[in-house]
Amino acid sequence: MKKLALHWKILIGMFLGILFGFLMNSVDGGKGFVTDWIKPLGTIFINLLKLIAVPLILASLIKGISDLKDISKIKKMGGRTIIIYVLTTLVAIVIGLTIVNTVQPGKGMSQDTIEKIKTKYESSDGVKDKMDKAKVTKDAGPLQPLVDIFPQNIFQALGDAKMLQIIFFALFVGICLLLIPENKAAPLVNFFDSLNEVVMKMVDLIMLTAPYAVFALLANVIIAFDDTEILMKLLWYALCVVGGLLLMIAFYLMLVSVYTKKSPMWFLKQISPAQLLAFSTSSSAATLPVTMERVEEHLGVDKEVSGFVLPVGATINMDGTSLYQAVAAVFIMQVIWPEGLTFTNQLVIVATALLASIGSAAVPSAGMVMLVIVLESIGFPEELLPIGLALIFAVDRPLDMCRTMVNVTGDATVSMIVAKSLGKLHDPKPKDWDDNYDKVKG
Ligand code: ASP
Repeated sequence: MKKLALHWKILIGMFLGILFGFLMNSVDGGKGFVTDWIKPLGTIFINLLKLIAVPLILASLIKGISDLKDISKIKKMGGRTIIIYVLTTLVAIVIGLTIVNTVQPGKGMSQDTIEKIKTKYESSDGVKDKMDKAKVTKDAGPLQPLVDIFPQNIFQALGDAKMLQIIFFALFVGICLLLIPENKAAPLVNFFDSLNEVVMKMVDLIMLTAPYAVFALLANVIIAFDDTEILMKLLWYALCVVGGLLLMIAFYLMLVSVYTKKSPMWFLKQISPAQLLAFSTSSSAATLPVTMERVEEHLGVDKEVSGFVLPVGATINMDGTSLYQAVAAVFIMQVIWPEGLTFTNQLVIVATALLASIGSAAVPSAGMVMLVIVLESIGFPEELLPIGLALIFAVDRPLDMCRTMVNVTGDATVSMIVAKSLGKLHDPKPKDWDDNYDKVKG
């Protein structure tokens, strides 16, 4: 397998994982075998990625900001990043709403199917869990998300991997490093520079195991599917989401090509390992270290930009999620609350899906939790909510995989645009895990 490019190795791992999952689904005790002996390998891989995410954000952002050497550039970078993130998310929501209103996947669903889905999922733990989590978010005050950015204890923030709090702290340290004399700043800057190099090398090493890890992750996803009949009934809805997500990818490729003058195919090839991992893990947060490595070393975005744009993006920029929320909300209305399908309600969906995608955590299924809030904002009847969620529950995981892939691609696209606008896009210098190996192998 040595000479194959990484994305091919990962694709082969994914393909074999899917095959293996189906095989295990059809033999007695197969599911148990996957859960006990295969799934843990995927969990170890995700743990390792999460392990390095926090030191990576801290080190690359502090080092990056201190490298900018110019506080006005930080303002420019922050402003541009947020504006482009909001604009791309709005495009995603409009694409989602256009498709779902044109195709109308929920229109002809039979009462029989609705009953079946209702019986199976309405009071399932999965649906209950989403509703409970949504309640916690809803009960918080309007400014709580702002308050949550400012940590009172950095060690707690680091321990709980609170992304926005860590980003705030790193920016704070980086700016103060610029405000003190250079000779005083140098030791800390060098420390974080060195930490950043080490963590990047860890990404390279962890990625050596990616093809095996995606095998485990996908085999585990496949054994969770047990009702293909319901899946087929939701096919049009799922196709609307996937079609919209593909259009979003096309939109990113156009942005990359027009604005940075780079070939879209080259962009896709460089970013593909991160996309495939996003697909396999359903978590932009877990994928973040790989996204950062690809964007910095393979797309040529300088650390000072990627170190800021990508962690912020993983937390607040979720174009795939917002597109999905728009399609899912309208689909649910088409099936069980058609009287709610007014133009005003669709406008409210645009606003709330934007906020909900900003508020969604970068972990599996978070988009579905925030969907509850989108539905409530348009006055969706409370007693119908569990049925609404039950309707889309069966296909949530595969759609989550696809939307996470789009979320990550969106972050990478925006980091290229912001880098280009600040003169921080250069020819990439990819590093490999063994660049220095000959000197130390003894
Ligand atoms: N899983 C998505 C992510 O991590 C969030 C979601 O849409 O559920 O980006």
